[in-house]
Amino acid sequence: MLSCKELVALSSDLLDAHLSLRQRVAVRLHLAMCYRCRRFIRQMRLSRAVLRQLPQGQSAELDALAARLAELRRQQG
Ligand SMILES: [Zn+2]
Repeated sequence: MLSCKELVALSSDLLDAHLSLRQRVAVRLHLAMCYRCRRFIRQMRLSRAVLRQLPQGQSAELDALAARLAELRRQQG
């Protein structure tokens, strides 16, 4: 069983689909039992979705990004 710390360490590889089958199973088991990590992964996904929407080659305005994230979080409830 993964610890929350181990799950966080794996999270970016998880979102990039770079995990082995064994790691994916371990992550799924952990997420099935751990609400906090489920929420964490969901927010990571949201952040990445927002980052992908930013125009390439243009430096992101951090304030605008933060506002966008807050808005998305509100929409999610
Ligand atoms: Zn956890």
